[in-house]
Amino acid sequence: MISYRQTLDRLDDAGMLRRLRPYGRSGGALIEDGGRALLNLSSNDYLGIASDSALLKAFYETMDINGPSLLEHFALGTASSRLLTGDTAVAHRLETHLAGLYGRPALLFNSGYHANIGILPALLGKNDLIVSDKLNHASLHDGLRVGRAACKRFNHRDYEHLRRLLERDRQRYQRAVIVSESIFSMDGDCADLARLVALKREFDCLLYIDEAHGVGVRGELGLGLAEEEGVLAEVDLLVGTFGKACGSVGAFLICSEDLRDYLINHSRSLIFTTALPPVVLSWNLFVMQRIPAMIEQRCRLRVLSDRFRAALLERRLPTAGSTNIVPVIIGSAEQTVAGAGHLREQGFLVLPVRPPTVPQGTSRFRLSLTAELHWQQIESLPGLIGDWLAGSRTS
Ligand code: PMP
Repeated sequence: MISYRQTLDRLDDAGMLRRLRPYGRSGGALIEDGGRALLNLSSNDYLGIASDSALLKAFYETMDINGPSLLEHFALGTASSRLLTGDTAVAHRLETHLAGLYGRPALLFNSGYHANIGILPALLGKNDLIVSDKLNHASLHDGLRVGRAACKRFNHRDYEHLRRLLERDRQRYQRAVIVSESIFSMDGDCADLARLVALKREFDCLLYIDEAHGVGVRGELGLGLAEEEGVLAEVDLLVGTFGKACGSVGAFLICSEDLRDYLINHSRSLIFTTALPPVVLSWNLFVMQRIPAMIEQRCRLRVLSDRFRAALLERRLPTAGSTNIVPVIIGSAEQTVAGAGHLREQGFLVLPVRPPTVPQGTSRFRLSLTAELHWQQIESLPGLIGDWLAGSRTS
């Protein structure tokens, strides 16, 4: 039998081996790597919340260590699932707060991964259909695989292809759901939500939108791309995560009361897992109370991202998308790993993204810009990347 070490060696030879590596946190846009401070261009902390020590301090100062509510609001463990005794008052307060922001009920999940593998399999059975964008996140793909519904994938943002699939197959199934990210995590491009809404109406489907990269960053109140595009009420299932712009961990679903009740009874990733601890839920609430007012950060991020993408395009670098997630597509995994090493030497933490996270032959640098970065800190990067690419192609 082939040993796992041999398989790992092959992965290493192909530039595909992943390793865990601890980083030190010094706050702001810097991250410590083996005693060196690097500019962090690989973080999903889009608003700088997770690395804001003043905000964290303000949160901890709300704790009354000697008061009666310490366990209620700031305990580190819940000791059981929400359906047993792990449900807490702060979970309900957070859900009520989210429902107030979005105008519809909210249901918490332990992470975006839990939400995406637990919602679709619960809602759809063998007589149902799911149509999903090919570049949707792995957690959504896994959700399709776990369930019993028929699954079809449409080419990335190709809504004519989606229409053809629905025309051909919709009638044969009872329920159908269209699934897409709002902002695609590896390409930094956006779904056309208005077209998805039109198609869901025409073909009598539910619309499921993963706003992991939209929450906090898009929309006047930071509720995501659906808010910005004025289609919040049309998204039947909106998944938001706390792990990115909200600087925390956990996720939530916005949906109807009926779907919420149904999922509480059927979603295995909600039922069979220990509930998030009060301290995390309290932090999530603290953050969600502040996100609507973080307009300046959202504007700054947008301006910075547009300027950076324009600078890459000016140098004819192979980028895509239109958001603060800025890919530079290199192609081979080995070359991408080598390029990331070169950028690290220059003081930039840009992690190589390789298959299976992205399709074969499209390994890339995924530069995720955050509101804490300043133009002066990233101004030289397009030149650096361009020179390295030119050099590595001629060598
Ligand atoms: N959906 C998308 C689009 C994501 O990018 C991610 C995380 N990379 C997730 C879901 C999973 O979220 P979490 O990290 O909270 O499990």
